[in-house]
Amino acid sequence: MIFTHDTETALDFVAALADTTPEASDSGDDELATSAQLITLLDLWEYSGRRDGDERELREVRNARDRLRELWLFDRDDAAHAVNELLAEAHALPKLVRHDRLDWHIHATELDAPLARRIMVEAAMALVDVIRADQMDRLRSCAADDCESLYVDLSKNASRRFCTTRCGNRMAVRAYRARAV
Ligand SMILES: [Zn+2]
Ligand SMILES: [Zn+2]
Repeated sequence: MIFTHDTETALDFVAALADTTPEASDSGDDELATSAQLITLLDLWEYSGRRDGDERELREVRNARDRLRELWLFDRDDAAHAVNELLAEAHALPKLVRHDRLDWHIHATELDAPLARRIMVEAAMALVDVIRADQMDRLRSCAADDCESLYVDLSKNASRRFCTTRCGNRMAVRAYRARAV
């Protein structure tokens, strides 16, 4: 295991959130255009805590998405500064908690804090682990030229280049055809 379970889950959630942009989504549409789509995403990830379901919340989460998408590909030093900024802005206060079916893990905001703030702080706390372990290069963007999907490479030798095997196969077929002509 490269990171703790809660860190890996938090990173996977950030990637899933980031991949709702048209350049990265399966449908090619913005999959975070409505509050209903936001609720679907949160339910899928069993995301706990406050939900307002209004336009303001949607707008704030969409801003968080842009910010985290950018942060994902920062180098280590820039990422460290950006994480510090996020934590300071949100007045993050780390605390070990145990709730629902989840064992001890860190919350650095209250469950009734606005959703976008909780998303950003949770991402920042996961990035703290990534930066401390000097593993920023595990946070990647798909190498397929027509896909901007983000993913965490948790492979043993950090050799994964594509977001999914689908992208990997597609690029392999394309390379094969290019050789064949
Ligand atoms: Zn929790
Ligand atoms: Zn891809």
